[in-house]
Amino acid sequence: MSNDKKVNNKKPKFSPYWVYGLIIVIFLAINLFSGSMGSSSGSLTTPAEFFRYLKDGDVENVQIVNRHEAKIFLTAEAADKEIHKKSVKPQLLPISGKSPNYQFEFGDLQNFENQLSVAVSDNNLATTISYETEQNVWGDFLLTLLPFVLIIGVWIFIMRRMSSGGGGGAGGQIFNIGKSKAKLFDQNTDVKTTFKDVAGLEGAKEEVQEIVDFLKHPEKYTSLGGKIPKGALLVGQPGTGKTLLAKAVAGEAQVPFFSLSGSDFVEMFVGVGASRVRDLFKQAKEKSPSIIFIDEIDAIGRARGKSNFSGSNDERENTLNQLLTEMDGFGTNTNVIVLAATNRADVLDKALMRAGRFDRQIFVDLPDVRERKEIFNVHLRPLKKAKNLDTDFLSKQTPGFSGADIANVCNEAALIAARKGNKSVGKQDFLDAVDRIVGGLEKKNKIITPGEKRAVAFHEAGHATVSWMLEHAAPLVKVTIVPRGQSLGAAWYLPEERLIVRPNQMLDEMCAALGGRAAEKVIFNEISTGALSDLEKVTKQARAMVTVYGLSEKVGNITYYDSSGQNEYGFTKPYSEQTAELIDREISNIIEEQYQRAISLLEANKVKLTELAEVLLDKEVIFKDNLEKIFGKRPFDKEEAEVSTEEE
Ligand code: ADP
Ligand code: ZN
Repeated sequence: MSNDKKVNNKKPKFSPYWVYGLIIVIFLAINLFSGSMGSSSGSLTTPAEFFRYLKDGDVENVQIVNRHEAKIFLTAEAADKEIHKKSVKPQLLPISGKSPNYQFEFGDLQNFENQLSVAVSDNNLATTISYETEQNVWGDFLLTLLPFVLIIGVWIFIMRRMSSGGGGGAGGQIFNIGKSKAKLFDQNTDVKTTFKDVAGLEGAKEEVQEIVDFLKHPEKYTSLGGKIPKGALLVGQPGTGKTLLAKAVAGEAQVPFFSLSGSDFVEMFVGVGASRVRDLFKQAKEKSPSIIFIDEIDAIGRARGKSNFSGSNDERENTLNQLLTEMDGFGTNTNVIVLAATNRADVLDKALMRAGRFDRQIFVDLPDVRERKEIFNVHLRPLKKAKNLDTDFLSKQTPGFSGADIANVCNEAALIAARKGNKSVGKQDFLDAVDRIVGGLEKKNKIITPGEKRAVAFHEAGHATVSWMLEHAAPLVKVTIVPRGQSLGAAWYLPEERLIVRPNQMLDEMCAALGGRAAEKVIFNEISTGALSDLEKVTKQARAMVTVYGLSEKVGNITYYDSSGQNEYGFTKPYSEQTAELIDREISNIIEEQYQRAISLLEANKVKLTELAEVLLDKEVIFKDNLEKIFGKRPFDKEEAEVSTEEE
């Protein structure tokens, strides 16, 4: 079989490169021909020598070619002279007549002619002068031909590109537009990702492992009358490893893996999306058992019939309908499993989620401490790390980081270590990398006036002081006033990972967040724009307390949160004007109350606050120990928590 194929392949096929080859050959031929046939040439000489020969009467004819060159033909007797030995002897082949003995370029034609006629008449010579225009006939011929050759070549090239079949190939050509743009990974491109490369995510891995099993041993399940699921939806924040997981499924199952993004279906032209879906499923069925992976499926899977103001969504709906049809269409025995990933499961069309389509939803969460440690271990493998590197410590320093963030930290740390000229990647490099990823690049030379620096120091000291004093506020790890990215200073905290949050905890956190502005007010009696991100955070939190979690007594046990996302573009609020006012008032009350609380706390601790700010101004970065020195041990500190950061 394979031998036959090879033989077939060896048959010379027309290739667009032939056109280029042909053009080159023509060029070469022309140059060769014109070299041997066109202008014949003599040995080079100078005008001065020429005039000497002329006066000696050796020259029979001077041929002026193209008004800038002279070709000298000697008389028969002169050609035999000793001094002309090195000149070119007339050719025997009479292809283009006689060739000149000498040739040279003169400067100005008028001048040369004058000199020449004077010399001829003075010496009474019989030398003749002739004029000639030499043309490269072949060159001209080619020049007229070249555009046609090029046009034909380009045309053939385009035709070939157009007619070459899709085969899962790159689209873009007008005739391929309905073909799916899925990238195919199979035995040939071997997907090397396995479950070993996916750290943590135990639950998700287990579910996904089952899919691998379905693909490998379908009989095992069908023999008992069960149906093999058609699709699984991976839901989780960006960078949590959904794509990685899907790739691992393909790698483990050893089946072809079609990967594409939801937006690949969408095109300007009507009907293209649907056609691509059809094509994708056709290809997948041909290669079954196989896996189709659609990343960012919300690009097409958004609930239908919403926000349809302009009709521009029709195309997307058609695509989605086609997808639904295809998923219904293939039987349980086709062994094609569709995996899809999204971070917005709430906006997906319900029809996608019903049994028989994406009947499994696999949640891929942000990793916790333990999982982060495992992810670190995966990404530390290729690094040359310091011997005593503590991965426990690293994973504690990176709360809220996704797998992708951690991969980024590892890479960044290696770069930082290399920049420092270190032999291995150490703890400090990782800390620098974390700081950099969280806060952006350090800008030590950002121009800040001493006054501004003082304000920033007191602001950060305010956060630190308030959070130190409040039971439920997250304990502090580090405060810095080194400008970084957009922020002028930052405070690092160790928040507990809580599953449910009580109002007290939320209020304490808000109070600590307002501590920055409160400190500015207490110390300088004026506030600044520096608290923008604090205010943003606090406002969001207060709004959530009132409208989402039902934690406001006056508004009551009501939530306006809609988990189905159906009201995303709604024009109407789900509450009356009075309630709107009440909500606004409640939000404002909560925030003001916490602000006043922060102010009175700081008033009472003004001396310590000032002391802390001075230390901060002096050292630029301070840690928990510095705070302990000033405030004494924090009474409500618990062990084991994680670091998070807060920026201005
Ligand atoms: P998503 O598709 O969820 O946005 P990806 O799967 O593309 O995220 O993950 C991006 C990168 O992050 C991966 O290539 C991998 O290097 C890293 N990563 C994410 N999660 C993990 C994990 N659980 N284990 C190992 N690496 C991970
Ligand atoms: Zn602040």
